[in-house]
Amino acid sequence: MSGADGAQAVPAAPRRFHGPCAAATMGSVVMNREMGTHADSAWPPHTARQVRLTCIDDRLTSAVFARQHGAAFEVRLAGGALALTDDRQEFALKELLVPAALGPLDTVFLEVHLACGAVSLAGHHFEQRDAERAFLAAVLDEAVRVVHRAAPSLTVHTRLVAPTGDALPVR
Ligand SMILES: [Zn+2]
Repeated sequence: MSGADGAQAVPAAPRRFHGPCAAATMGSVVMNREMGTHADSAWPPHTARQVRLTCIDDRLTSAVFARQHGAAFEVRLAGGALALTDDRQEFALKELLVPAALGPLDTVFLEVHLACGAVSLAGHHFEQRDAERAFLAAVLDEAVRVVHRAAPSLTVHTRLVAPTGDALPVR
């Protein structure tokens, strides 16, 4: 399962975790499970086959997403998919691919939202709503490329949402 560019496809990706981060810790837990050192079979299995990368914004509740798309693993980083396009890219990608080691994962949802404080803090300010949407659409395009390069077997969906969590047309 290797892409043309040599990137490892899931589920091997989490084994590449290294360094002192949460993903690395989770990676070692995954390997311990695979080696049978965790007696956790009494717990329900993971059922979600999808993961959502969204912003830390408290208005973006999991319930709104779940109503439209069902249960999902959830990764929250400031700016959501923006994290895949800046200096947090490697970390964001690792977090996003952790669920691939916990069960079958086939779908990724990359999300950004209007009126995002993380986008403002990154220095992006917009006079017009159209300019904001165009910027966020470009962020999503780049984030999709990043995920496809790392995990070409995954289906990637993008979501532009209002601060209420309701989906809007990306373009
Ligand atoms: Zn935000």
